[in-house]
Amino acid sequence: MGRITGPVCRLCRRDGLKLFLKGNRCDTPKCAFERRPTPPGMVQKRRSKPTEYGVHLREKQKVKHYYGVLERQFRTYFSRAERGKGNTGETLMSLLERRLDNVVHRLGFSPSRAGARQLVMHGHITINGRRVDVPSYSVRAGDVVRVKNRKPSLQLVHSALAEFRRDVPDFLSRSEGGVPEGRVDRLPVSDDVSIPVQANLIIELCSK
Ligand code: SF4
Repeated sequence: MGRITGPVCRLCRRDGLKLFLKGNRCDTPKCAFERRPTPPGMVQKRRSKPTEYGVHLREKQKVKHYYGVLERQFRTYFSRAERGKGNTGETLMSLLERRLDNVVHRLGFSPSRAGARQLVMHGHITINGRRVDVPSYSVRAGDVVRVKNRKPSLQLVHSALAEFRRDVPDFLSRSEGGVPEGRVDRLPVSDDVSIPVQANLIIELCSK
């Protein structure tokens, strides 16, 4: 079998689960994880048993790759979660899920988070009628996320919606009229995250 995986897909194969980092391709038989769900490498070795630290670290790396955040940003989210009321792990996942690029992706306006980040940065998205070009912007309950009413923005999002038919999560609702828009019905909780994450392991690791 030829080369079936790029750098991004290697993360899924390494972590042993689909992280949905490549948009539409992830839902097709071309998905590298579907084709070969073993760790990358020329020789197919059995997975060695990870250390306790390795298990904790892998959960953190998984979440960082999934949301596309770097270590420094991740630390900032962790500090905010620690200062918040309630369970730190749940607060951390809620903060990450509230990122505008994530919300744009989960509304189906872009097939991947990387694409959603570009949409936001290039000014194609408004919040409550105001242009917001910061991917890390944290949405609030009641916010209306709308595509800018101009031809290039609408073309990009309409074609993504036509190809990328994934349901929106429970905390969001979407209307796809002439100008697609989404509404944040409530703040997300850890159950709204679409990959299995043991947030408590991340908290244990970051608290040391
Ligand atoms: Fe690649 Fe997406 Fe499949 Fe992961 S889920 S291996 S990113 S195609």
